[in-house]
Amino acid sequence: MAETMKAVVKNKAGSGAELVETKIPALKSDEVLVKVIATSICGTDVHIYEWNDWAKGRIKNIPQILGHEFAGEVVATGKNVKNIKVGDYISAETHIPCQRCYQCLTGNMHICNNLKILGVDRDGCFAEYVAVPEIVAWKNDKKLLPEFASVQEPLGNAVYCTLVEPVTGKSVLIIGDGPLALFSCGVARAGGAANIFLAGMEEFRMNIGLKMGATEYFNVNKEKVDEIILKKTNGLGVDVVLDMAGGQQALNLALSTIRKGGRFSAFGLASGPVKIDINENVIFKGITVYGINGRLMFDTWFKMANLLNSGKLDITPVVTHKLPLEEFKKGFSLMMNTPKLCGKVVLYPDSKFLK
Ligand SMILES: [Zn+2]
Ligand SMILES: [Zn+2]
Repeated sequence: MAETMKAVVKNKAGSGAELVETKIPALKSDEVLVKVIATSICGTDVHIYEWNDWAKGRIKNIPQILGHEFAGEVVATGKNVKNIKVGDYISAETHIPCQRCYQCLTGNMHICNNLKILGVDRDGCFAEYVAVPEIVAWKNDKKLLPEFASVQEPLGNAVYCTLVEPVTGKSVLIIGDGPLALFSCGVARAGGAANIFLAGMEEFRMNIGLKMGATEYFNVNKEKVDEIILKKTNGLGVDVVLDMAGGQQALNLALSTIRKGGRFSAFGLASGPVKIDINENVIFKGITVYGINGRLMFDTWFKMANLLNSGKLDITPVVTHKLPLEEFKKGFSLMMNTPKLCGKVVLYPDSKFLK
């Protein structure tokens, strides 16, 4: 095997990244080495690429390979690896748990106290090869296309967020228009939601939401969405709100449109503290609030695999662009430019897989 590989590397504290030739990762005893077939760009990668305030405070190891969403084939295994074999077709949970802390030992590995994140705390997968601990390796069905297998990390957020309680027969408001909000439309439909309202700003993306199963969408910049939602639910409000956007405006919309006794799943991050009238909007309304961080390990992954492999969930409309890894700058531009004219952008280190 070759000793070097091409990789997209953040090599200085500042905006951008470079395609460089670098060493193939050395394998630790509990890790597997994966030849990356497909790897997708996430909002987190964009933050690191742009080098925003969050990235400045969070990214400690420069140079570092970007990326955390992938699908690929295992080409080597460390000596203590037991269940994953060379030739397995895998993706990975990106939250790497310590397996020893209180959270890990009580069934909450996804919020481990010593959590390390792929492509954030250690080298990522925008490369020909990536090494990941066996504990996070997820074996894919061989029939699952690499572009779909690659986006399971964000899709898993949507599965966890949407199905943390059943949505069958319920009205659901999804706030946001990023890929996660679009995935959530599909998951809500697969889960049997009666009405799926999507509230966002980007028309191109909200049209993808319709293809994924949204009943209708509303533009928060052009319409009084809170009034419309109340009218459509006979003044009652929706049963379920998923906030995939985050921030004060999204929170206000969520809390003003959720019915008494409804369920609120908070996933989108705010850029700072937000104000909330806890008396009126939470306590007296008797709503249930879930903080959604990552994916349940591995409850969410099993659910997601069943939805994808059974054909109940088709994510084709969300994967809008496939590019060779060399064109990563074009991929990032697609993600950063407004208006947003992409869903998920998938990169291929080896163009022979790019069909
Ligand atoms: Zn991601
Ligand atoms: Zn832990």
